[in-house]
Amino acid sequence: MRTLLHRPRRLRRTPALRDLVRETTLTPNDFILPLFVSEKIKSRRAINSMPGVEQLAPNEIAAEAARAAESGLQAVLLFGIPNEKDEQASGAYADDGVVQKAVRAIKAARPDLLVITDVCLCEYMSHGHCGVVRRDGDHFHVLNDESVELLAKAALSHAAAGADLVAPSDMMDGRIGAIREALDRAGFDQTGIISYAAKFASAFYGPFREAAESPPQFGDRRTYQMDPANAAEALRETALDVAEGADIVMVKPAVAYLDILWRVHERFGLTTAAYHVSGEYAMVKAAAANGWLDERSAVLEIMTGIKRAGADLIVTYWARELAEWTRR
Ligand SMILES: [Zn+2]
Repeated sequence: MRTLLHRPRRLRRTPALRDLVRETTLTPNDFILPLFVSEKIKSRRAINSMPGVEQLAPNEIAAEAARAAESGLQAVLLFGIPNEKDEQASGAYADDGVVQKAVRAIKAARPDLLVITDVCLCEYMSHGHCGVVRRDGDHFHVLNDESVELLAKAALSHAAAGADLVAPSDMMDGRIGAIREALDRAGFDQTGIISYAAKFASAFYGPFREAAESPPQFGDRRTYQMDPANAAEALRETALDVAEGADIVMVKPAVAYLDILWRVHERFGLTTAAYHVSGEYAMVKAAAANGWLDERSAVLEIMTGIKRAGADLIVTYWARELAEWTRR
């Protein structure tokens, strides 16, 4: 028999040893809970494709956010569904818009809970695209600079309502700089920006469209969201957002993009977030419902993988459960 000098199994022998040498640990502070508030409903409505996730009525949002805070979470990410949509996304930057009112309600109930707002136009546009559309016969164009102007107005109205951080998810060019400038000019120099720096045109967003009621009525989003095949481009996109003043950069989706997450984290050294998206959630929920996976262990393993790959923060529909599962 050979004598082995290195026996890695020595450090796996007991639970105490395994705890002692664990490199990646999850805590409730790692997670952000997305919440959907809709002006179109009077009370909560289940989202079929995302079991356990609901749209909330405006009068329910503050209590739901408070419940998140009580579970140990530090932050929620708000998405709004307005009563009316138009071609200028007026609801996105209305002072009494659905998100603006929800931010005020949450901040009145729980001033300590961080409120992050999704900044985009798709939920407020009658055509469902993330920017201003110009039609040209059979073709259509999503206009960049015109859209950025509206996005900056939306971000400013969220900051005025009390949002701690705004999170532009549209993928228009130059919007981080425009938003930073608009916020600073209005005296909101302490309002932070989480940029969706590398957001890919992903099949995994499917269930979200039911949640946010924002599918495009024509065409797709591939002229603004990124090609899933491109990694160097993701780094160029992130570099632009960092240069324009992003405080936190995000990669979306998470699990099929762990290499991007790792590179973004290593290259920029900024707080890095990952969005574990609706389709990634729905897959595990469906498998667990069939008894094919143990939900809790699968979710903890996925989240550990995302954090190990470089995420400091993870947006996930399991945030509330994770706060409970990772509390010590
Ligand atoms: Zn959008």
